[in-house]
Amino acid sequence: MEKRKRIALVAHDNKKRDLAEWVQYNWGTLMGHELVCTGTTGKMVEETIRAKAEAKLPQGFQVRRLKSGPLGGDQQLGALIAEGEVDIVIFFWDPMSPQPHDVDVKALLRIAVLYNIPMACNRSSADFVISSELLGREYHQRVEDYSSYLARSIPR
Ligand code: PGA
Repeated sequence: MEKRKRIALVAHDNKKRDLAEWVQYNWGTLMGHELVCTGTTGKMVEETIRAKAEAKLPQGFQVRRLKSGPLGGDQQLGALIAEGEVDIVIFFWDPMSPQPHDVDVKALLRIAVLYNIPMACNRSSADFVISSELLGREYHQRVEDYSSYLARSIPR
């Protein structure tokens, strides 16, 4: 990972206020990184950072917005992780309500673990991630070697 991280932010509806508050608190750090979000979360994150940063916003600052989660945004994010295009995931998912895209959420959690992506699923984990001294440094993350899996023999 480079010094400037590619950070994905996602919040389920009941957790959006929580994420907005967290972004209000951490906008100064966040605007120094590349941000990618699911659709509705991205709109909220971008508006929150713009309102806080005003003239301090770096030129061309933009939050990349994927589709809304239930419309495929979580899967798009999973694909970006598999392609090595996301370094960190902040995912405030709602443990109290079933989601129409529960299976996509599960897939996103799995793919982030598979690729050893730091992933914060609640606010205190997000606080620890954003205040980590590794955030502003290059970092070589270990990724499991799957070559023997890929070379396995398939019964025919
Ligand atoms: P949203 O999607 O940001 O478009 O609301 C988030 C989700 O439900 O996964």
